[in-house]
Amino acid sequence: AQSPLPRPVATACPYCGVGCGVLAGVDAGGGVTIAGDPAHPANRGRLCVKGSALGETLDLEGRLLHPMMRTRSGSMERVSWDTALDGVAEGFQHAIREGGPDATALYLSGQLLTEDYYVANKLMKGFVGTANVDTNSRLCMASSVAGHRRAFGSDTVPGTYEDLDEADLLVLVGSNAAWCHPILWQRMVANQQARGARIVVVDPRRTATAAEADLVLQIRPGTDAVLFAGLLVNLADTGGLDEAWLAAHTTGFDEALVRAREIAPTLAATAAATGLPADDVARLFAWFAATGRAVTLYSQGVNQSAQGTDKVSAILNVHLATGRIGRPGMGPFSLTGQPNAMGGREVGGLANMLAAHMGFTASDIDRVRRFWGAPRMAEREGLKAVQMFDAVARGAIRALWVMGTNPAASMPRADHVRRAMAGLDLLVVSENMLSNDTVNAGAHILLPAAAWGEKDGTVTNSERRITRQRPFLALPGEARPDWWIIAGVARRLGFGEAFSWTGPAAVFREHAALSAFENRGTRDFDLSGLAGLSDADYEALQPVQWPVRRPGDRTETRFFAAGGFFTADRRARLVAIASPVLAESPDARRPLLLNTGRLRDQWHTMTRTGKAPTLGRHSPEPLLALHPSDAAHLGLCEGDVARLDTAHGAARLRVTLDPGQARGEVFAPIHWTGETAAAARIGALVQAATDPFSGQPEMKATPVSVSRV
Ligand code: SF4
Repeated sequence: AQSPLPRPVATACPYCGVGCGVLAGVDAGGGVTIAGDPAHPANRGRLCVKGSALGETLDLEGRLLHPMMRTRSGSMERVSWDTALDGVAEGFQHAIREGGPDATALYLSGQLLTEDYYVANKLMKGFVGTANVDTNSRLCMASSVAGHRRAFGSDTVPGTYEDLDEADLLVLVGSNAAWCHPILWQRMVANQQARGARIVVVDPRRTATAAEADLVLQIRPGTDAVLFAGLLVNLADTGGLDEAWLAAHTTGFDEALVRAREIAPTLAATAAATGLPADDVARLFAWFAATGRAVTLYSQGVNQSAQGTDKVSAILNVHLATGRIGRPGMGPFSLTGQPNAMGGREVGGLANMLAAHMGFTASDIDRVRRFWGAPRMAEREGLKAVQMFDAVARGAIRALWVMGTNPAASMPRADHVRRAMAGLDLLVVSENMLSNDTVNAGAHILLPAAAWGEKDGTVTNSERRITRQRPFLALPGEARPDWWIIAGVARRLGFGEAFSWTGPAAVFREHAALSAFENRGTRDFDLSGLAGLSDADYEALQPVQWPVRRPGDRTETRFFAAGGFFTADRRARLVAIASPVLAESPDARRPLLLNTGRLRDQWHTMTRTGKAPTLGRHSPEPLLALHPSDAAHLGLCEGDVARLDTAHGAARLRVTLDPGQARGEVFAPIHWTGETAAAARIGALVQAATDPFSGQPEMKATPVSVSRV
């Protein structure tokens, strides 16, 4: 039992990108207490079922508590931290000697704290000399990042959660917020009930979110951009544009409209291409045209696509063409999946970004090099997740360090990824758990990382709000914070002086100072006002949205109402998108489309939520949702076990009849990783076609055959 704390600590939930505040503590009996933090602006005291059950997930069963290394005989043995860190450093040095810096790579996680992410990026991009640092956020919101950057010149979420309370129209695209962002969804429903806001859901599935909507558009997979191209055309033809705002603050409108007319020339053509009733399309168009305070929220149904960036651009085009951005109750809004996907973006967690939202331009590279005093600065973008594991498979990457994620289960073509990792000279895994698919893929060194409740640092949620994640449990065994582990390897590689922080507050100060370094208002991400925090200030830091341009500055919570984009001419770019087409289409051999996603009560590959009995009750085993007509055609009944086959892998799942599925489309959750009679690593079935701009893989539409076992 842990020692009681005098009072609960204010921390942040480790699950979704809503970023709810949690009050967590240890009671007199040594038990953990969990409650929503009434003072946190994201959730105002509420928690969803996953957050409420956090206390059930904190036991040490199955935890990795000591560093371990593989012996010559193949067994894993406990070693000291010195031995383990020496082993990582020697393995990386060997790979660099043999193949140069690009023979090494880090694969990170939206579960890491911002401080951990910062140290990992500094080591690889400034000191080892490779940008082969990518993250599971590539599977989550990379298309939003790419869409933001080409429209705004920066990766900026323009609005805030308050816009969801103040909007009169909320359009959710590819988002089952009722299950995946429940606390935000509650805010939207409260707005619907109290103020009469209308909710529209655009999704190929009739989800729990659709059940509350005023209008449901059960759209044909892959055609979201057609719908928004059609909306742009309709607004142009009905006087719905903000011509003055467009002229003052944007470029590219004419080209974007010409392309939109090619894709969706009329309302009838839009309806035909999207498979939607024309009346429903007309209703959406009329509501949008008539409602100034409109927010379009989008999530993985948009991002996880081989055309994800164009889908994002189609949405942004409509908001830019109407000037509905950055003002109360209006704007495009990307719902990030993970607790710190945003924090990772801020420090360069993606292979095509540098820290502080900088890119691989000559001036940004030089700026970061001088700030870090970097001896071997990466000069070009690194490999994005799918490319990275392909490079592992062909032997171009020889040493890989995976932190806080499970790519052998979660990556597309997961069997290919698992086989690739088994051939590495060095696979290092920083983990909470002693066993998972990636650990079991042939890891040579296991490093016990601190878990939620033990970690100390910051995360950033979907509305740019930085929240302290504070510890309330002692570090178990020999577990250590990720930043400490990475800095230990950096010292052994000879970079000690630049990695000599005494704690996470010092890392945060450096991160904030880099955002301020030679930043003359030309970048969105600016923490100048937090660069001088003392350790005590950092400990007491209250949830705060960036930018924080001066100490105590809270004047700018939204961006772009009056233009001021972060492009060279300070104008936004409307984008002429490509014609929507699926990367792979069903055929006679694989006649159905496989969609993947989350369930309400589980998280990722279940290493945490799988421990909570409360959460297991909602959906106790992996399932395949399919329309009753498809099931009848296949001879399948509720509860049968069905076999799924794609070009990439196979699985067996328990059948659930779901009239909310469109005919010809099936859905399977991503969470289960085992391979028993009715379990599956769904990642193994998913294709790896990627978006040309974001590198994000298509995880929502893989052709599949389904048969009775
Ligand atoms: Fe945690 Fe998200 Fe639930 Fe909030 S909505 S309690 S952040 S899982």
